[in-house]
Amino acid sequence: MTSVSRRRMLGGAVASAAALASLPSARAAAAPGDPAEPLEVDVAIVGGGLSGLTAARDLVAAGRSVVVLEARDRPGGRVYGLPLGDGTTSEGGAEFIGPTQDRIAALAQSLGVATFKTYNTGKNVYHRNGRRSLYATDGLLGAVPPDWGVIDLELALTRLGNAANKITPGTPWTAQGAEDWDSQTFHTWSRANTLSSGARFLLDAFISTTLSVRAKEVSLLYVLNYIAAAGNAGNPGDVDRLINTAGGGQESRFVGGSQEVPVRLAAALGDRVRLSAPVRRIAQEGDRVVVTADGVTVSAKRAVVAMSPAVTAKIEFLPGLPAARAQLAQRFPMGSVAKFVAVYPTPFWRAEGLTGQAVADSGAIDATFDNSPPDGSRGILMGFVSQTNLRSLRAGSAADLTAACLASFTKLFGAQAGAPTRTAHQIWDDEPWSGGGPTGITAPGVLTEFGPALRAPHGLVHWAGTETSDYWTGYMDGAVRSGERVAAELLPLL
Ligand SMILES: Cc1cc2nc3c(=O)[nH]c(=O)nc-3n(C[C@H](O)[C@H](O)[C@H](O)COP(=O)(O)OP(=O)(O)OC[C@H]3O[C@@H](n4cnc5c(N)ncnc54)[C@H](O)[C@@H]3O)c2cc1C
Repeated sequence: MTSVSRRRMLGGAVASAAALASLPSARAAAAPGDPAEPLEVDVAIVGGGLSGLTAARDLVAAGRSVVVLEARDRPGGRVYGLPLGDGTTSEGGAEFIGPTQDRIAALAQSLGVATFKTYNTGKNVYHRNGRRSLYATDGLLGAVPPDWGVIDLELALTRLGNAANKITPGTPWTAQGAEDWDSQTFHTWSRANTLSSGARFLLDAFISTTLSVRAKEVSLLYVLNYIAAAGNAGNPGDVDRLINTAGGGQESRFVGGSQEVPVRLAAALGDRVRLSAPVRRIAQEGDRVVVTADGVTVSAKRAVVAMSPAVTAKIEFLPGLPAARAQLAQRFPMGSVAKFVAVYPTPFWRAEGLTGQAVADSGAIDATFDNSPPDGSRGILMGFVSQTNLRSLRAGSAADLTAACLASFTKLFGAQAGAPTRTAHQIWDDEPWSGGGPTGITAPGVLTEFGPALRAPHGLVHWAGTETSDYWTGYMDGAVRSGERVAAELLPLL
Protein backbone atom coordinates (compact mmCIF):
# COMPACT_ATOMS: atom_id res chain seq x y z
CA MET A 1 0.00 0.00 0.00
CA THR A 2 1.43 3.36 -0.95
CA SER A 3 1.63 6.12 1.58
CA VAL A 4 -0.94 8.09 -0.41
CA SER A 5 -3.53 5.34 -0.43
CA ARG A 6 -2.87 4.66 3.23
CA ARG A 7 -3.42 8.29 3.99
CA ARG A 8 -6.69 8.21 2.03
CA MET A 9 -7.72 5.17 3.97
CA LEU A 10 -7.16 7.15 7.13
CA GLY A 11 -9.39 9.90 5.90
CA GLY A 12 -6.88 12.72 5.65
CA ALA A 13 -3.64 13.98 7.05
CA VAL A 14 -4.96 13.98 10.61
CA ALA A 15 -5.38 10.34 11.41
CA SER A 16 -7.72 9.31 14.18
CA ALA A 17 -6.22 7.87 17.31
CA ALA A 18 -7.40 4.38 16.40
CA ALA A 19 -6.04 4.60 12.87
CA LEU A 20 -2.68 5.87 14.06
CA ALA A 21 -2.39 3.03 16.52
CA SER A 22 -2.82 0.51 13.71
CA LEU A 23 0.08 1.81 11.62
CA PRO A 24 3.57 0.28 11.64
CA SER A 25 5.58 0.75 14.77
CA ALA A 26 9.34 0.98 15.06
CA ARG A 27 10.96 -2.15 13.76
CA ALA A 28 12.60 -3.55 16.86
CA ALA A 29 15.94 -4.93 15.70
CA ALA A 30 16.85 -5.63 19.31
CA ALA A 31 15.28 -5.50 22.71
CA PRO A 32 14.90 -1.87 23.78
CA GLY A 33 17.63 -1.11 26.23
CA ASP A 34 20.42 -2.76 24.31
CA PRO A 35 22.28 0.26 22.99
CA ALA A 36 24.58 -1.98 20.94
CA GLU A 37 21.79 -2.98 18.56
CA PRO A 38 19.68 0.01 17.65
CA LEU A 39 16.04 0.22 16.79
CA GLU A 40 15.68 0.99 13.10
CA VAL A 41 13.14 3.55 11.92
CA ASP A 42 12.68 6.07 9.17
CA VAL A 43 12.74 9.04 11.53
CA ALA A 44 13.98 9.44 15.11
CA ILE A 45 12.19 12.33 16.78
CA VAL A 46 13.87 13.90 19.79
CA GLY A 47 11.32 15.51 22.11
CA GLY A 48 7.76 14.47 22.88
CA GLY A 49 6.25 17.94 23.16
CA LEU A 50 3.51 19.05 20.78
CA SER A 51 5.97 19.71 17.95
CA GLY A 52 7.63 16.29 18.08
CA LEU A 53 4.36 14.41 18.56
CA THR A 54 2.74 16.28 15.66
CA ALA A 55 5.67 15.47 13.37
CA ALA A 56 5.35 11.82 14.41
CA ARG A 57 1.61 11.85 13.72
CA ASP A 58 2.07 13.16 10.18
CA LEU A 59 4.95 10.82 9.35
CA VAL A 60 3.05 7.80 10.66
CA ALA A 61 -0.04 8.87 8.75
CA ALA A 62 2.13 8.84 5.60
CA GLY A 63 3.25 5.30 6.36
CA ARG A 64 6.69 6.03 7.79
CA SER A 65 8.11 4.44 10.93
CA VAL A 66 9.14 6.71 13.79
CA VAL A 67 10.33 6.66 17.36
CA VAL A 68 9.79 9.65 19.64
CA LEU A 69 12.41 9.88 22.37
CA GLU A 70 11.22 11.98 25.30
CA ALA A 71 13.44 12.86 28.26
CA ARG A 72 10.64 13.25 30.79
CA ASP A 73 8.42 10.51 32.16
CA ARG A 74 5.43 12.18 30.48
CA PRO A 75 4.66 13.59 27.04
CA GLY A 76 3.75 17.24 26.44
CA GLY A 77 6.84 19.24 27.47
CA ARG A 78 5.63 22.76 28.22
CA VAL A 79 2.03 21.51 28.23
CA TYR A 80 1.48 20.02 31.68
CA GLY A 81 -1.38 19.25 34.04
CA LEU A 82 -0.15 20.48 37.41
CA PRO A 83 -1.34 18.07 40.15
CA LEU A 84 -3.40 19.83 42.81
CA GLY A 85 -2.92 17.05 45.36
CA ASP A 86 -6.51 15.79 45.25
CA GLY A 87 -6.36 13.72 42.08
CA THR A 88 -7.16 16.70 39.81
CA THR A 89 -4.92 19.03 37.83
CA SER A 90 -4.83 22.61 36.63
CA GLU A 91 -2.89 23.90 33.64
CA GLY A 92 0.68 24.33 34.89
CA GLY A 93 2.09 25.37 31.52
CA ALA A 94 0.36 26.23 28.24
CA GLU A 95 -3.33 26.85 28.69
CA PHE A 96 -5.12 29.16 26.26
CA ILE A 97 -5.94 29.11 22.57
CA GLY A 98 -7.64 31.70 20.42
CA PRO A 99 -8.63 32.81 16.92
CA THR A 100 -6.22 32.00 14.06
CA GLN A 101 -4.55 29.28 16.14
CA ASP A 102 -5.99 26.87 13.60
CA ARG A 103 -3.48 24.07 13.79
CA ILE A 104 -3.68 23.38 17.52
CA ALA A 105 -7.47 23.74 17.23
CA ALA A 106 -7.59 21.15 14.44
CA LEU A 107 -5.30 18.80 16.32
CA ALA A 108 -7.36 19.02 19.50
CA GLN A 109 -10.57 18.47 17.57
CA SER A 110 -9.14 15.41 15.84
CA LEU A 111 -8.36 13.96 19.26
CA GLY A 112 -11.78 14.74 20.70
CA VAL A 113 -10.54 17.45 23.08
CA ALA A 114 -13.20 20.17 23.32
CA THR A 115 -12.68 23.83 24.21
CA PHE A 116 -14.63 26.24 26.38
CA LYS A 117 -14.46 30.00 26.76
CA THR A 118 -12.10 31.45 29.37
CA TYR A 119 -14.24 33.08 32.09
CA ASN A 120 -14.42 36.72 31.01
CA THR A 121 -17.62 38.19 32.45
CA GLY A 122 -17.31 41.33 34.55
CA LYS A 123 -14.43 43.67 35.23
CA ASN A 124 -10.67 43.21 35.36
CA VAL A 125 -8.53 44.42 38.26
CA TYR A 126 -5.69 46.89 37.69
CA HIS A 127 -3.27 47.55 40.55
CA ARG A 128 -0.74 50.29 40.00
CA ASN A 129 1.11 52.77 42.22
CA GLY A 130 -0.60 51.24 45.28
CA ARG A 131 -4.11 51.81 43.94
CA ARG A 132 -6.63 49.13 42.95
CA SER A 133 -9.15 49.93 40.22
CA LEU A 134 -11.62 47.95 38.13
CA TYR A 135 -12.17 48.27 34.39
CA ALA A 136 -14.38 46.75 31.72
CA THR A 137 -12.71 45.03 28.75
CA ASP A 138 -15.51 45.37 26.21
CA GLY A 139 -14.54 48.93 25.25
CA LEU A 140 -12.23 50.20 22.53
CA LEU A 141 -9.13 49.41 24.57
CA GLY A 142 -9.97 45.75 25.07
CA ALA A 143 -7.75 44.23 27.75
CA VAL A 144 -5.58 47.38 28.03
CA PRO A 145 -6.11 49.00 31.47
CA PRO A 146 -7.17 52.69 31.27
CA ASP A 147 -4.05 54.26 32.79
CA TRP A 148 -2.87 57.84 32.33
CA GLY A 149 -1.05 57.90 29.05
CA VAL A 150 -3.40 55.61 27.25
CA ILE A 151 -3.33 57.77 24.10
CA ASP A 152 0.45 57.69 24.27
CA LEU A 153 0.19 53.91 24.53
CA GLU A 154 -2.24 53.56 21.65
CA LEU A 155 0.05 55.63 19.40
CA ALA A 156 2.99 53.43 20.35
CA LEU A 157 0.98 50.26 19.70
CA THR A 158 -0.06 51.61 16.30
CA ARG A 159 3.58 52.29 15.44
CA LEU A 160 4.50 48.79 16.55
CA GLY A 161 1.71 47.28 14.49
CA ASN A 162 2.76 49.22 11.39
CA ALA A 163 6.34 48.02 11.74
CA ALA A 164 5.21 44.44 12.39
CA ASN A 165 3.19 44.56 9.15
CA LYS A 166 6.47 44.94 7.26
CA ILE A 167 7.75 41.62 8.57
CA THR A 168 7.26 38.18 7.05
CA PRO A 169 6.53 35.97 10.06
CA GLY A 170 9.32 33.47 10.64
CA THR A 171 11.96 35.35 8.62
CA PRO A 172 12.13 38.76 10.36
CA TRP A 173 15.79 39.17 9.36
CA THR A 174 14.71 39.69 5.74
CA ALA A 175 12.69 42.85 6.54
CA GLN A 176 14.01 46.14 5.28
CA GLY A 177 14.20 47.65 8.77
CA ALA A 178 15.63 44.50 10.36
CA GLU A 179 19.14 45.82 11.09
CA ASP A 180 17.79 48.90 12.82
CA TRP A 181 15.10 47.02 14.75
CA ASP A 182 17.57 44.33 15.81
CA SER A 183 20.02 46.94 17.10
CA GLN A 184 17.82 47.98 20.02
CA THR A 185 15.91 46.43 22.87
CA PHE A 186 12.18 46.80 23.23
CA HIS A 187 12.89 48.95 26.31
CA THR A 188 15.05 51.37 24.28
CA TRP A 189 12.33 51.66 21.67
CA SER A 190 9.48 52.10 24.16
CA ARG A 191 11.32 54.89 26.02
CA ALA A 192 12.02 56.68 22.73
CA ASN A 193 8.42 56.35 21.56
CA THR A 194 6.38 57.24 24.66
CA LEU A 195 6.34 60.06 27.19
CA SER A 196 4.09 58.87 30.00
CA SER A 197 4.92 56.47 32.81
CA GLY A 198 1.53 54.77 32.29
CA ALA A 199 2.28 53.87 28.67
CA ARG A 200 5.78 52.75 29.60
CA PHE A 201 4.50 50.53 32.39
CA LEU A 202 1.87 48.95 30.13
CA LEU A 203 4.40 48.28 27.35
CA ASP A 204 6.66 46.63 29.93
CA ALA A 205 3.67 44.63 31.18
CA PHE A 206 2.93 43.53 27.59
CA ILE A 207 6.41 42.02 27.35
CA SER A 208 6.35 40.53 30.84
CA THR A 209 2.93 38.92 30.55
CA THR A 210 3.52 37.46 27.08
CA LEU A 211 7.24 36.57 27.13
CA SER A 212 8.09 36.56 30.84
CA VAL A 213 11.24 38.62 30.31
CA ARG A 214 12.00 42.27 30.96
CA ALA A 215 11.74 44.68 28.05
CA LYS A 216 15.48 45.37 28.31
CA GLU A 217 16.25 41.68 27.62
CA VAL A 218 14.57 41.38 24.23
CA SER A 219 15.24 42.75 20.75
CA LEU A 220 12.66 45.03 19.14
CA LEU A 221 12.92 42.86 16.01
CA TYR A 222 11.99 39.78 18.05
CA VAL A 223 8.89 41.56 19.41
CA LEU A 224 7.86 42.77 15.95
CA ASN A 225 8.11 39.22 14.62
CA TYR A 226 6.14 37.95 17.61
CA ILE A 227 3.37 40.43 16.78
CA ALA A 228 3.50 39.58 13.06
CA ALA A 229 3.21 35.91 14.00
CA ALA A 230 -0.04 36.42 15.95
CA GLY A 231 -2.25 35.51 13.00
CA ASN A 232 -2.42 33.13 10.08
CA ALA A 233 -1.98 33.24 6.31
CA GLY A 234 -5.32 35.04 5.90
CA ASN A 235 -5.12 37.33 8.93
CA PRO A 236 -2.00 39.42 9.59
CA GLY A 237 -0.78 39.30 13.18
CA ASP A 238 -1.66 42.11 15.57
CA VAL A 239 -1.06 43.15 19.15
CA ASP A 240 -4.72 42.90 20.17
CA ARG A 241 -4.81 39.24 19.24
CA LEU A 242 -1.83 38.69 21.55
CA ILE A 243 -3.17 40.48 24.60
CA ASN A 244 -6.95 40.09 24.50
CA THR A 245 -9.05 37.38 26.07
CA ALA A 246 -12.21 37.84 23.94
CA GLY A 247 -11.05 37.61 20.32
CA GLY A 248 -7.45 37.01 21.36
CA GLY A 249 -4.95 34.36 22.34
CA GLN A 250 -6.52 33.83 25.76
CA GLU A 251 -10.06 33.29 24.48
CA SER A 252 -10.50 29.56 25.15
CA ARG A 253 -9.26 26.67 27.22
CA PHE A 254 -9.38 22.90 26.81
CA VAL A 255 -11.93 20.78 28.64
CA GLY A 256 -9.98 18.52 30.98
CA GLY A 257 -6.86 20.69 30.62
CA SER A 258 -4.50 21.35 27.72
CA GLN A 259 -2.41 18.27 28.58
CA GLU A 260 -5.22 16.16 27.14
CA VAL A 261 -3.92 17.05 23.68
CA PRO A 262 -0.36 15.65 23.99
CA VAL A 263 -1.47 12.81 26.26
CA ARG A 264 -4.01 11.56 23.71
CA LEU A 265 -1.65 12.14 20.81
CA ALA A 266 1.08 10.14 22.53
CA ALA A 267 -1.40 7.38 23.37
CA ALA A 268 -2.38 7.20 19.70
CA LEU A 269 1.27 6.79 18.75
CA GLY A 270 1.54 3.92 21.24
CA ASP A 271 4.93 2.31 21.74
CA ARG A 272 6.51 4.64 19.19
CA VAL A 273 6.84 7.09 22.10
CA ARG A 274 9.62 6.24 24.53
CA LEU A 275 9.44 8.16 27.81
CA SER A 276 12.31 8.70 30.26
CA ALA A 277 14.69 8.52 27.29
CA PRO A 278 16.83 11.68 27.32
CA VAL A 279 18.87 11.87 24.13
CA ARG A 280 22.56 12.42 24.77
CA ARG A 281 24.07 12.18 21.30
CA ILE A 282 23.08 12.47 17.65
CA ALA A 283 25.75 11.02 15.34
CA GLN A 284 25.57 11.00 11.56
CA GLU A 285 27.26 7.93 10.10
CA GLY A 286 27.09 7.69 6.30
CA ASP A 287 23.45 7.72 5.26
CA ARG A 288 22.17 6.95 8.78
CA VAL A 289 21.77 9.02 11.89
CA VAL A 290 22.30 7.24 15.20
CA VAL A 291 20.47 8.74 18.15
CA THR A 292 21.61 7.61 21.57
CA ALA A 293 19.26 8.02 24.50
CA ASP A 294 19.39 6.57 28.00
CA GLY A 295 18.43 2.91 27.57
CA VAL A 296 17.85 2.95 23.84
CA THR A 297 19.69 3.68 20.60
CA VAL A 298 17.89 4.40 17.36
CA SER A 299 19.26 4.25 13.81
CA ALA A 300 17.24 6.33 11.38
CA LYS A 301 17.29 7.84 7.92
CA ARG A 302 16.64 11.27 9.43
CA ALA A 303 16.31 12.83 12.88
CA VAL A 304 14.13 15.68 14.09
CA VAL A 305 15.12 17.74 17.11
CA ALA A 306 11.83 19.14 18.41
CA MET A 307 12.47 21.53 21.29
CA SER A 308 13.56 25.09 22.02
CA PRO A 309 17.03 26.01 20.68
CA ALA A 310 18.41 26.54 24.20
CA VAL A 311 17.63 22.97 25.27
CA THR A 312 19.34 21.49 22.18
CA ALA A 313 22.64 22.63 23.68
CA LYS A 314 22.52 19.63 26.05
CA ILE A 315 22.85 17.21 23.13
CA GLU A 316 26.20 16.22 21.62
CA PHE A 317 26.14 16.40 17.82
CA LEU A 318 28.60 14.43 15.70
CA PRO A 319 29.71 16.03 13.45
CA GLY A 320 29.30 19.19 15.45
CA LEU A 321 26.66 21.72 14.52
CA PRO A 322 27.53 24.47 12.06
CA ALA A 323 28.85 27.49 13.97
CA ALA A 324 25.74 29.57 13.32
CA ARG A 325 23.34 26.92 14.70
CA ALA A 326 25.53 26.18 17.72
CA GLN A 327 25.84 29.87 18.51
CA LEU A 328 22.14 30.47 17.92
CA ALA A 329 21.43 27.90 20.65
CA GLN A 330 23.69 29.86 23.01
CA ARG A 331 21.81 33.06 22.19
CA PHE A 332 18.17 31.94 22.47
CA PRO A 333 17.46 31.95 26.23
CA MET A 334 14.13 30.99 27.79
CA GLY A 335 11.99 33.43 29.74
CA SER A 336 11.66 33.02 33.51
CA VAL A 337 8.17 31.90 34.52
CA ALA A 338 6.19 30.09 37.18
CA LYS A 339 2.47 29.50 37.51
CA PHE A 340 0.84 29.60 40.93
CA VAL A 341 -2.70 28.29 41.45
CA ALA A 342 -4.98 28.52 44.48
CA VAL A 343 -8.18 26.50 44.88
CA TYR A 344 -11.36 27.80 46.61
CA PRO A 345 -14.77 26.22 47.29
CA THR A 346 -16.32 28.64 44.75
CA PRO A 347 -15.07 31.20 42.21
CA PHE A 348 -16.09 33.91 44.70
CA TRP A 349 -14.78 36.78 42.54
CA ARG A 350 -17.45 36.05 39.93
CA ALA A 351 -20.18 36.97 42.43
CA GLU A 352 -18.38 40.29 42.90
CA GLY A 353 -18.57 41.00 39.17
CA LEU A 354 -14.92 40.20 38.47
CA THR A 355 -13.42 38.15 35.65
CA GLY A 356 -10.53 36.94 37.81
CA GLN A 357 -8.12 38.70 35.43
CA ALA A 358 -5.74 41.29 36.84
CA VAL A 359 -2.56 43.21 36.02
CA ALA A 360 -0.33 44.49 38.83
CA ASP A 361 2.87 46.53 39.03
CA SER A 362 3.98 45.16 42.39
CA GLY A 363 4.02 41.92 44.34
CA ALA A 364 4.95 38.40 43.30
CA ILE A 365 2.26 38.04 40.64
CA ASP A 366 1.91 40.40 37.69
CA ALA A 367 -1.08 38.86 35.90
CA THR A 368 -3.94 36.53 36.88
CA PHE A 369 -6.70 34.44 35.27
CA ASP A 370 -9.70 32.40 36.38
CA ASN A 371 -8.58 28.77 35.99
CA SER A 372 -11.80 27.24 37.31
CA PRO A 373 -13.25 24.17 35.58
CA PRO A 374 -15.90 24.77 32.89
CA ASP A 375 -18.84 24.23 35.29
CA GLY A 376 -17.40 26.60 37.92
CA SER A 377 -17.90 23.87 40.52
CA ARG A 378 -14.91 25.24 42.39
CA GLY A 379 -12.80 28.34 42.06
CA ILE A 380 -9.19 28.31 40.85
CA LEU A 381 -7.17 31.49 40.54
CA MET A 382 -3.96 31.34 38.51
CA GLY A 383 -1.15 33.87 38.73
CA PHE A 384 2.02 34.28 36.66
CA VAL A 385 5.27 34.88 38.53
CA SER A 386 7.59 36.40 35.97
CA GLN A 387 11.22 37.39 35.37
CA THR A 388 12.75 39.44 38.24
CA ASN A 389 10.02 38.44 40.73
CA LEU A 390 10.59 34.78 40.04
CA ARG A 391 14.36 35.03 40.22
CA SER A 392 14.17 36.63 43.67
CA LEU A 393 11.48 34.23 44.97
CA ARG A 394 13.40 31.18 43.77
CA ALA A 395 16.11 32.09 46.25
CA GLY A 396 13.65 31.41 49.10
CA SER A 397 11.57 28.37 50.09
CA ALA A 398 8.40 27.06 48.47
CA ALA A 399 6.51 28.34 51.54
CA ASP A 400 7.91 31.85 50.93
CA LEU A 401 6.76 31.72 47.30
CA THR A 402 3.29 30.53 48.34
CA ALA A 403 2.99 33.27 50.96
CA ALA A 404 4.08 35.96 48.50
CA CYS A 405 1.64 34.73 45.84
CA LEU A 406 -1.27 34.60 48.29
CA ALA A 407 -0.41 38.15 49.40
CA SER A 408 -0.71 39.18 45.73
CA PHE A 409 -4.07 37.43 45.32
CA THR A 410 -5.36 39.08 48.53
CA LYS A 411 -4.30 42.52 47.32
CA LEU A 412 -6.08 41.95 44.01
CA PHE A 413 -9.19 39.96 45.05
CA GLY A 414 -9.67 40.56 48.79
CA ALA A 415 -9.25 38.56 51.99
CA GLN A 416 -11.06 35.45 50.70
CA ALA A 417 -8.28 34.99 48.16
CA GLY A 418 -5.82 34.56 51.03
CA ALA A 419 -7.60 31.45 52.34
CA PRO A 420 -7.56 28.76 49.63
CA THR A 421 -8.21 25.10 50.34
CA ARG A 422 -5.02 24.16 48.49
CA THR A 423 -2.28 25.66 46.35
CA ALA A 424 0.26 24.41 43.84
CA HIS A 425 2.94 25.90 41.63
CA GLN A 426 5.18 25.00 38.73
CA ILE A 427 8.53 26.74 38.32
CA TRP A 428 9.58 26.26 34.70
CA ASP A 429 13.09 27.61 35.30
CA ASP A 430 13.71 24.55 37.53
CA GLU A 431 12.75 22.10 34.77
CA PRO A 432 15.98 20.83 33.20
CA TRP A 433 14.25 19.79 29.94
CA SER A 434 12.65 23.23 29.51
CA GLY A 435 15.01 25.66 31.24
CA GLY A 436 12.26 28.27 31.65
CA GLY A 437 9.32 29.46 29.60
CA PRO A 438 7.02 30.20 27.97
CA THR A 439 9.37 30.46 25.00
CA GLY A 440 12.88 31.29 23.86
CA ILE A 441 13.61 34.95 23.12
CA THR A 442 16.49 36.79 21.49
CA ALA A 443 18.42 39.91 22.46
CA PRO A 444 19.54 42.47 19.85
CA GLY A 445 21.85 41.19 17.15
CA VAL A 446 20.80 37.57 17.25
CA LEU A 447 18.04 37.22 14.65
CA THR A 448 19.87 39.21 11.99
CA GLU A 449 23.19 37.37 12.60
CA PHE A 450 21.98 33.84 13.37
CA GLY A 451 18.30 33.68 12.39
CA PRO A 452 18.81 31.92 9.05
CA ALA A 453 20.29 28.95 10.97
CA LEU A 454 17.04 28.40 12.90
CA ARG A 455 15.45 25.88 10.53
CA ALA A 456 18.38 24.98 8.21
CA PRO A 457 18.89 21.18 8.45
CA HIS A 458 22.26 19.94 9.71
CA GLY A 459 22.83 17.08 7.26
CA LEU A 460 20.30 14.42 8.27
CA VAL A 461 19.12 16.41 11.32
CA HIS A 462 16.05 18.65 11.02
CA TRP A 463 14.58 21.16 13.46
CA ALA A 464 11.11 21.67 14.94
CA GLY A 465 9.78 23.34 18.08
CA THR A 466 7.53 26.37 18.47
CA GLU A 467 10.51 28.72 18.22
CA THR A 468 10.94 27.62 14.59
CA SER A 469 7.36 28.41 13.58
CA ASP A 470 6.24 31.18 11.27
CA TYR A 471 2.83 31.83 12.87
CA TRP A 472 2.22 31.76 16.62
CA THR A 473 5.85 31.20 17.51
CA GLY A 474 6.04 30.67 21.27
CA TYR A 475 2.59 29.09 21.41
CA MET A 476 1.09 25.60 21.20
CA ASP A 477 -0.16 26.49 17.73
CA GLY A 478 3.39 27.31 16.65
CA ALA A 479 4.59 23.97 18.02
CA VAL A 480 1.97 22.10 15.98
CA ARG A 481 2.76 24.15 12.85
CA SER A 482 6.47 23.39 13.26
CA GLY A 483 5.76 19.66 13.56
CA GLU A 484 3.64 19.77 10.41
CA ARG A 485 6.30 21.77 8.56
CA VAL A 486 9.14 19.42 9.46
CA ALA A 487 7.12 16.32 8.50
CA ALA A 488 6.36 17.89 5.09
CA GLU A 489 10.05 18.77 4.74
CA LEU A 490 11.07 15.17 5.46
CA LEU A 491 8.59 13.16 3.42
CA PRO A 492 10.21 13.74 0.01
CA LEU A 493 13.58 12.81 1.52
CA LEU A 494 12.64 9.43 2.99
C1 LIG B 1 4.00 28.81 31.95
C2 LIG B 1 3.71 28.66 30.49
C3 LIG B 1 2.53 29.17 29.97
C4 LIG B 1 2.25 29.03 28.62
N1 LIG B 1 1.03 29.45 28.17
C5 LIG B 1 0.67 29.19 26.90
C6 LIG B 1 -0.67 29.41 26.48
O1 LIG B 1 -1.54 29.82 27.27
N2 LIG B 1 -0.98 29.14 25.17
C7 LIG B 1 -0.06 28.63 24.29
O2 LIG B 1 -0.41 28.38 23.14
N3 LIG B 1 1.22 28.39 24.69
C8 LIG B 1 1.60 28.64 25.96
N4 LIG B 1 2.86 28.33 26.39
C9 LIG B 1 3.88 27.91 25.39
C10 LIG B 1 3.71 26.44 24.94
O3 LIG B 1 3.74 25.63 26.07
C11 LIG B 1 4.84 26.06 24.01
O4 LIG B 1 4.92 26.96 22.94
C12 LIG B 1 4.68 24.66 23.40
O5 LIG B 1 4.16 23.74 24.31
C13 LIG B 1 6.06 24.21 22.90
O6 LIG B 1 6.00 22.91 22.35
P1 LIG B 1 7.34 22.31 21.71
O7 LIG B 1 7.05 20.94 21.28
O8 LIG B 1 7.86 23.28 20.73
O9 LIG B 1 8.41 22.31 22.91
P2 LIG B 1 8.35 21.57 24.31
O10 LIG B 1 6.97 21.51 24.84
O11 LIG B 1 9.37 22.24 25.16
O12 LIG B 1 8.79 20.09 23.97
C14 LIG B 1 10.13 19.71 23.88
C15 LIG B 1 10.24 18.33 24.49
O13 LIG B 1 11.58 17.87 24.34
C16 LIG B 1 11.95 17.18 25.52
N5 LIG B 1 13.41 17.17 25.55
C17 LIG B 1 14.25 18.20 25.79
N6 LIG B 1 15.53 17.78 25.70
C18 LIG B 1 15.48 16.46 25.38
C19 LIG B 1 16.47 15.48 25.14
N7 LIG B 1 17.79 15.75 25.19
N8 LIG B 1 16.07 14.22 24.85
C20 LIG B 1 14.74 13.90 24.75
N9 LIG B 1 13.77 14.81 24.98
C21 LIG B 1 14.14 16.08 25.28
C22 LIG B 1 11.29 17.95 26.62
O14 LIG B 1 11.14 17.20 27.80
C23 LIG B 1 9.95 18.31 25.99
O15 LIG B 1 8.97 17.34 26.26
C24 LIG B 1 3.17 28.41 27.76
C25 LIG B 1 4.35 27.88 28.27
C26 LIG B 1 4.62 27.99 29.63
C27 LIG B 1 5.88 27.39 30.18
